[in-house]
Amino acid sequence: MTHIEFSEVLRLLQTSFDVTIASPKADAWYRQLHEWPVDRFRRLVTLALAECERFPALAWFVKNRDRVPGAAVAPRTACPICDSTGLVHTTCAGAAYAWRCPECANWAGRADGYPVWHPLPGHTVTSHAEWNPHDPLMVKGLALLGPESVAWRAATPAMRTAALALRAARSAMDAAPAEPPASPGLRATVRTVVQQLREPGEEG
Ligand SMILES: [Zn+2]
Repeated sequence: MTHIEFSEVLRLLQTSFDVTIASPKADAWYRQLHEWPVDRFRRLVTLALAECERFPALAWFVKNRDRVPGAAVAPRTACPICDSTGLVHTTCAGAAYAWRCPECANWAGRADGYPVWHPLPGHTVTSHAEWNPHDPLMVKGLALLGPESVAWRAATPAMRTAALALRAARSAMDAAPAEPPASPGLRATVRTVVQQLREPGEEG
């Protein structure tokens, strides 16, 4: 859950028991609970209101965590930016960082507490596989994400060329691509992906 979601539920808990906790203590709660889906924290607060005589300790929440189901975690979707993990890993000056992927929702229910990744100076992304313009799935993924995506800005020129050609081919499905890539290898990749997109059930 995000810090804002956590704060809203904590405020409800404090108001209900007429208790105010100091912010260092609230920070300690958040550090302990941030990986939970907000739904679990919210349901446990409802349970606490029904069962607890006094303001429950953090330990009460940790002890009772499995009494309520977390929010249903959706199946992962293919994502070239985070390799479908939901997390983008970066290094900066020797330190490692983890972020929520900006291109998919694979983090939902798994890594809700992390900040969203956006390109930062000095950070090197280490999580996604090497761009391969001859990998039809990767080209297809980048073409679907489009030029507005973070993935597009991070992609290599050859990847963008292949994805652009694929987008042009898709918009005029039966015509030749407006600007076929010069490289025979890239032309072959685009042909393969166009062929896949033409297969029944793939339309959309
Ligand atoms: Zn992702």
